[in-house]
Amino acid sequence: MTMKPEKIGYVYLIGAGPGDPGLLTLKGRECIARADVILYDYLAHKRLLSFARPDAELIYAGKVGGAHNREQWQINEMLVEKALQDKVVARLKGGDPFIFGRGGEECEALVAASVPFEIVPGVTAAIGAAAYAGIPLTHRDFTTSVAFVTGHESSGKEVSGIDWQQLSLGSGTVVFYMGMKNLAQIAANLIVHGRAPQTPVALVRWGTRPEQEVLTGTLADIAEKALKEGFKAPAVTIVGDVVRLRDKLRWFDSRPLFGKGILVTRASDQAGAFSCLLEGYGAHVLECPTIAVIPPESFDELDEAISALAGYDWLIFTSANGVSFFFERLHALGFDSRALGPCRVAAVGSKTGEALAAQGIRPDLLPSGYHAEGVVRKFAELGGAGQKALYPKADRARDVIPKGLAELGMEVVAPIAYRTVIPDCISREALDALEEHRIHCVTFTSSSTVTNLAALVGENRLIHLLEGVAVASIGPITSATCRELGLRVDIEPHRATIETLTEEVVQYFSSR
Ligand code: SAH
Repeated sequence: MTMKPEKIGYVYLIGAGPGDPGLLTLKGRECIARADVILYDYLAHKRLLSFARPDAELIYAGKVGGAHNREQWQINEMLVEKALQDKVVARLKGGDPFIFGRGGEECEALVAASVPFEIVPGVTAAIGAAAYAGIPLTHRDFTTSVAFVTGHESSGKEVSGIDWQQLSLGSGTVVFYMGMKNLAQIAANLIVHGRAPQTPVALVRWGTRPEQEVLTGTLADIAEKALKEGFKAPAVTIVGDVVRLRDKLRWFDSRPLFGKGILVTRASDQAGAFSCLLEGYGAHVLECPTIAVIPPESFDELDEAISALAGYDWLIFTSANGVSFFFERLHALGFDSRALGPCRVAAVGSKTGEALAAQGIRPDLLPSGYHAEGVVRKFAELGGAGQKALYPKADRARDVIPKGLAELGMEVVAPIAYRTVIPDCISREALDALEEHRIHCVTFTSSSTVTNLAALVGENRLIHLLEGVAVASIGPITSATCRELGLRVDIEPHRATIETLTEEVVQYFSSR
């Protein structure tokens, strides 16, 4: 890679890919991460902005459906201006910057101002949409060539710049960008210039995204079909016999949760892993964190216990958050994991075990079952009387462990390691999706996710918003909270893990 050191005015013109954030290149990601300023387009996926430095300046250069919020010359000027202030600028453009992206014009402006730049190519919409629709753009049995064509020529052109005769017969597969408005005209032109009316056509809207839509037909009927279905931009139009292969090769939009909107309500630091699992089955996940994890008002109690670790027989964790706050304090106090010494470690839940493993600790005890009761049962079996346990807990943790272990004759110290609070507000995007019936399933991964969501939107309104929405709860305690609030639980796995919850959600929708 030939990348410039930081702090020299520089522009990276980056192809953001067609939608699926995973289709950004590694180089694109590196450039976003080093930029001082990010100028991004409507078609660039918002999630890519999470690769930016927290202090990076984010500027929306939006162009929505032809209504240019900013004129192209303004964008060019801004690129030059920021670079001349010695800023590293990432110009994030949908698809590939040099395919109908006006990347060429932006580069020309940079050259004119002597601003150094690099182009980072991206997966262009034709390539991405075709792949995710199961349509190989070339195939030895069907075609040897493919053309990318604009379906929206610069306004003001009296004579078409497209040689329709050559295009109709010269290229096996033709992909039109920006062609939705002119679809009828495009199809008619191809037919008039010799392409068979029965030639298959596919329209792919929001290709590679969870909301991808595909409409197939022929040159003769596609425009009418699109009109009837209200099929809108942004979409590519793929023309050619290769479109027939979709029936056989379709993979993306045939997955079990494809087209299903699923709400993930857990804290944002934990939501990602769950969202990934659901997205793996094709779900359209919306994250709506109902829990924010923050430090306790004071670490004094926890610090005191950590400083006296040698006097404890057991260290008990019931959450990954507990593990991370505990170790954060341990390190802040100048200790490392050797401070645990002979103290044994118990962990509830596989994620808690994984968090410990990440700290180099292998738990001595992993009680079966995923709740506090399992710990008490296990210690009852072991006969813990007379032993001392440290249990760094959440402020709202139930008192099952301290009480249960005390009854067994153990001494338990349970300092608050972190607090879970209700965020200030619910995400606007999630609320809109609920109101517009775009959510098919809501997931609750703890009782607080239920009560907090109810607190955020109001109990009555929650029941109303969740009418007809499947409720998936991670386990019996969470389900009980749902029922107390008047919600019906449709999905509850036999084991309280996000993996089994995901499987049950898949099962639920597959059987309908
Ligand atoms: N530089 C971009 C194209 C920008 S022109 C690229 O290389 O992909 C904008 C047009 O791209 C849209 O009108 C639409 O035709 C197409 N497009 C962009 N993203 C798309 C997507 N996810 N699915 C289908 N078409 C898309």
